Amino acid sequence: MLKIETADRLKKLPPYLFAEIDRIKKAAIQSGRDIIDLGVGDPDTPTPMHIIEQLYKAASDPQNHRYAMDAGLLQLREAITSWYKSRFNVELDVDTEVLPLIGSKEGIAHIPLAFINHGDEVLIPDPCYPPYKSGTIFAGGVPYLMPLLEENDFLPDLDAIDPQVARRAKIMFINYPNNPTSACATEDFYRKVIDFARDNNIIICHDAAYSEVSFDGYKPQSFLEFDGAKEVGVEFHSLSKTYNMTGWRIGFACGNSEVIAALRTVKSNIDSGIFQAVQFAGVIALEGDQSHVDEINSMYQSRRDALVDGLNRIGWKVSKPKATFYAWIPVPPGYTSNELTKLLLEKADIVTTPGVGFGPNGEGYIRMALTVSEERLAEAVGRIERLHK
Ligand SMILES: *Cc1c(COP(=O)(O)O)cnc(C)c1O
Repeated sequence: MLKIETADRLKKLPPYLFAEIDRIKKAAIQSGRDIIDLGVGDPDTPTPMHIIEQLYKAASDPQNHRYAMDAGLLQLREAITSWYKSRFNVELDVDTEVLPLIGSKEGIAHIPLAFINHGDEVLIPDPCYPPYKSGTIFAGGVPYLMPLLEENDFLPDLDAIDPQVARRAKIMFINYPNNPTSACATEDFYRKVIDFARDNNIIICHDAAYSEVSFDGYKPQSFLEFDGAKEVGVEFHSLSKTYNMTGWRIGFACGNSEVIAALRTVKSNIDSGIFQAVQFAGVIALEGDQSHVDEINSMYQSRRDALVDGLNRIGWKVSKPKATFYAWIPVPPGYTSNELTKLLLEKADIVTTPGVGFGPNGEGYIRMALTVSEERLAEAVGRIERLHK
């Protein structure tokens, strides 16, 4: 018998805190209970039909059956640069400043491999989307957590970062609109980040996966709109949330050409590009009719109002997100985030995510995703109200 022992890097990953919730959830579903799942942030409505039709067409062309070019099709890179110009008024060079990804998670998890040597620090928001940490650990780096606190509007306090760490750190991840807190960045924050990056020679990786999921007329900005941004970093985008394409695996990185080139080198040694039919579907998503983006957003906006207004009516204190499809909900006194999540699942058949699963500073919150119908969200509020009685 072999003695199978995993590498230290696997042992160093943060503990998986959702295991118990997952177990209770599976058991509940199996026993036939009517579960409302607000746990996973995965759009529940389909990819728009014109994108699917393009996939059918492109998938039946044998030219698209071979290995893709790992730099991405020129048509896709052109669609990305045109979309960027019209959406953010930012010019990108189609050959050197854009890199298609197999979903933005892929690029986010791989980018530390391009820059991090053993023991190098990476500045990471806390709570956060988990791949910032795991990508750092896989590259041999050390996460340095920047707390996202309500008193700072869930923006990291750059002045609170240990100056020695700042000098040594190689990369900073930021993410606005933010998952899990649903906070949005200010212009002043982005300017401070750019100054900080210049002063400390740090590459900024801005995750903008939710740049198109916003409400009440608010339009999130690109980090690259700000003076000097392209000298210090890159931005990650995803077609997943914008076009209901989570399963398709397509996103992109753009910005600083040296950073993009290094990420391209890493990727060319690991993957062989995105299935070309999916790339052609991505072209249609970016260049085609954008009206459904507004439709999807107005759907989430109504759901947000149903959930947040409902929770506030029954005495919870929840603020309304301007973007993302999450509500970040303070846990009422007397519970930890894990305890509240368990209670909601066991007594109300509602799945939520405990904030602490996203990092220590997520304690005190739970996350609810707006990826079920308005009717089911109203039902969830009703069930929570009955818990109080
Ligand atoms: C969903 C999500 C992503 C990535 O999605 P892909 O499907 O890999 O493009 C990236 N960042 C955050 C914060 C997300 O929530």
